[in-house]
Amino acid sequence: MDFDQILLEISRYVQPLFGKGKVADYIPALSAVPGTKFGMALHTVGGETFQIGDAEERFSIQSISKLFTLSLAMGFVGEELWRRVGREPSGNPFNSLVQLEYEHGIPRNPMINAGALVICDVLLSHTKDARQAVLDYMRVLSGAHDIVFDAAIARSEADTGYINLALANFLKGNGNLENDVEAVLDLYFHQCSLVMSCSELSRAVLHLANGGVSWHLSETILTPGQVKRLNAVMLTCGLYDAVGEFAYRVGLPGKSGVGGGIVAVMPREYSVAVWSPELDAFGNSMVGGAALEYLTTLTGRSVF
Ligand code: GLU
Repeated sequence: MDFDQILLEISRYVQPLFGKGKVADYIPALSAVPGTKFGMALHTVGGETFQIGDAEERFSIQSISKLFTLSLAMGFVGEELWRRVGREPSGNPFNSLVQLEYEHGIPRNPMINAGALVICDVLLSHTKDARQAVLDYMRVLSGAHDIVFDAAIARSEADTGYINLALANFLKGNGNLENDVEAVLDLYFHQCSLVMSCSELSRAVLHLANGGVSWHLSETILTPGQVKRLNAVMLTCGLYDAVGEFAYRVGLPGKSGVGGGIVAVMPREYSVAVWSPELDAFGNSMVGGAALEYLTTLTGRSVF
């Protein structure tokens, strides 16, 4: 497959879409990013790398981090995890309080904020230093040892995180947090503040296309069973409440964030990350979604 040519075609195809979405503006660090940024990186399970545009530029990965913290937590508690968080699509906004209330403090899935807060709680209970554990995990998976949290973003998240505060308090009130609300929120705001490039993100999810074996260490990160489960959760819960639309158009398991990034995997073939900050009404990258749709169209292959 000539991925160099395919990425070039994609970058041309998406041009008319710039200016149609809206860059996230709830914190200054996100609203300051130019909407015209576009990067895409793809890694094959055979070891080839392809990229185009701003693929080496780091951006705020935001909710894409939920995929990695889930993966880390699954390693600590296995199937026990599902007693505290569900695995069904939410069909509701990612920060819905209503849903959490009528489901008695059991978040619908780990990809919405309430679910991610429970995952943070699991990490705090199973590590000495949960922030460092998340950072170490991202560094190992991506092979980039200088990945850091962006302190300004983490602070802004905390300054504006009123709804997350409400969700965490509601979880605590329902007995679904073991640790202090403050500690859980601190970890959550920090995971949102991770900054990574498309190239680093694509490498960090390559094992999910490769039966759980990491790209650079030839080391098993996850078992094939865990890979199946993570990819299933991505496919059904990874794109906010537009997950059906993404499956319909793109046909790959993926996870998005309001920084404009999306990661996706084509099992046994490749991993891919795309970044473009202008979002659609659901909070997904408008250009990023179109780019991935065009990728599966041009390759003629998806998980279906
Ligand atoms: N950091 C934001 C929040 O938790 C957004 C995360 C995202 O959906 O990408 O509200």
